[in-house]
Amino acid sequence: MADTATGLLINYEYCTGCYSCEMSCAVEHDLPEGRYGIQVFQAGPWQIDKKHWQNDYMPVPTDECDLCAERTAKGKKPLCVKHCQSLVMEYGPVEELAKKIDGKTKYVLFVPKAGTVL
Ligand code: SF4
Ligand code: SF4
Repeated sequence: MADTATGLLINYEYCTGCYSCEMSCAVEHDLPEGRYGIQVFQAGPWQIDKKHWQNDYMPVPTDECDLCAERTAKGKKPLCVKHCQSLVMEYGPVEELAKKIDGKTKYVLFVPKAGTVL
């Protein structure tokens, strides 16, 4: 991986499933219905044991995500990051984002492959 690789860090433990990332991305990139730059899925709810439940929303960037190349080239945040009111999404160099994964909450780190289509 190149040192300059950038990505999205998502702390999905605190994702509320509001779909703002999904909607804002689709509008910004003029995607037709049924296509997404990021799609929010839900795992659960179900009861694991007396104390624990599985109930997570998981925003998944797709192959149509280019990390908002036009915006970030101008120094702006990706639109999904800007519109996430729960502040659970961050954009930046992968090495910096990886340092924020502390093992205390649930994260995914998304890094797109080269040649995305947006
Ligand atoms: S970074 Fe941009 S293209 Fe990627 S999911 Fe977020 S809004 Fe969509
Ligand atoms: S905008 Fe933020 S809180 Fe809302 S679904 Fe996306 S990641 Fe979750």
